[in-house]
Amino acid sequence: MQQEWEDELEESKKNKLHDLFGITYENQKLYFIRKALMKMVDTCPMCGIQPPSQLDHQSPRSDFKTMSVSRLNLVPVCGVCNNKKRDKDPHGFVHPYYDHSIKDVPFFVITIHSNPRTHRMSWKFSINEAVISDKALADKINKQVGVVKLYRRLYRETNGMLSDLLSGIDDITEDILNFLLQKEYKTHLKRRGPNDWHTVFVKALNDSPIFTIEEAKVYAKTIKPINGGVNA
Ligand SMILES: [Zn+2]
Repeated sequence: MQQEWEDELEESKKNKLHDLFGITYENQKLYFIRKALMKMVDTCPMCGIQPPSQLDHQSPRSDFKTMSVSRLNLVPVCGVCNNKKRDKDPHGFVHPYYDHSIKDVPFFVITIHSNPRTHRMSWKFSINEAVISDKALADKINKQVGVVKLYRRLYRETNGMLSDLLSGIDDITEDILNFLLQKEYKTHLKRRGPNDWHTVFVKALNDSPIFTIEEAKVYAKTIKPINGGVNA
């Protein structure tokens, strides 16, 4: 239907619709659309790192002029993701309003590694395609992750989260560490779902035989608390 409008509507009318997006900013007539959409999510659905600050056209405004202010085509995202996504194939991106089929399937995975010589712990991010039955969707997710440079950005975030978890580590036992990790995991799972990086990272630490209290203490000496150690 939408494509038919794109094909049949006169160019001048299409351009008028295209330009409507220009009046969705603050103090303008269609600001209510932007305001309502921005309230829908706390964090950018593409990265889960920052709050949304911009509206992304899932299908680009230049090609789909009639969908310029269509709410189903407008996704609140952060500036970093929007800049990285710009001009990339929109069909290669997961649409947060429609691709809900795997919302509850834990497909995002973090694996903890440790260098046996240096005790330097590190971790890798991946998509477990085996649990995603729709192959095209798995490809989309992998592509999107690459375009927004998600793994590199998440390494910094997870490192900050770990430094918070580890502040005060010298005063706790293995039991308390496990308790804290499980508590964090349940909180993030409930609040953010199984594929948010907070949930997945705490789960990875919790499940990992490498991340013992001794390893945690060694690791704590190599990183500085970033956010003031609020969790310990
Ligand atoms: Zn983002």
